[in-house]
Amino acid sequence: MTAEARSDVYVAAEQLPWVEFSPGIAFRLLRVSAETGDWTVIFRCDAGSSFAPHRHLGPGEYLMLAGKMEVRGGAAAGGVTAHAGDYGYEPSGVVHDSTCFTEATRFYFTNRGPIAFIDDAGRVTDVLDWRLLLQIYEKGASAA
Ligand code: ZN
Repeated sequence: MTAEARSDVYVAAEQLPWVEFSPGIAFRLLRVSAETGDWTVIFRCDAGSSFAPHRHLGPGEYLMLAGKMEVRGGAAAGGVTAHAGDYGYEPSGVVHDSTCFTEATRFYFTNRGPIAFIDDAGRVTDVLDWRLLLQIYEKGASAA
């Protein structure tokens, strides 16, 4: 993996270690770009896990590989329920106050820029950019 590739990028993703992202959620880091701030991962989410509330500071895209993702409470609450095979686009600036996994789930995700984690008042508590993600992954992978 390289931050500034000048040629094709090929990753044997199944051979990468899983590194903890947050409780119940692990990821494989496929690619980061220092140039554009893009980062691409596969998330593996245990049943009962969730992402902390966040705002996208760049647009993101996902493709569901397995399981189910409930965005903003899921379809029953006016949000999105994404199933295996489904694709989603999340525009820059969108806020996800609740993203839950009721069953074991995997999805491909790429974001074109950072994500800001926010508190109940919408204040930014942490910013996750490609550089921090790479640090977390390299640290976790070397400990694995
Ligand atoms: Zn989100």
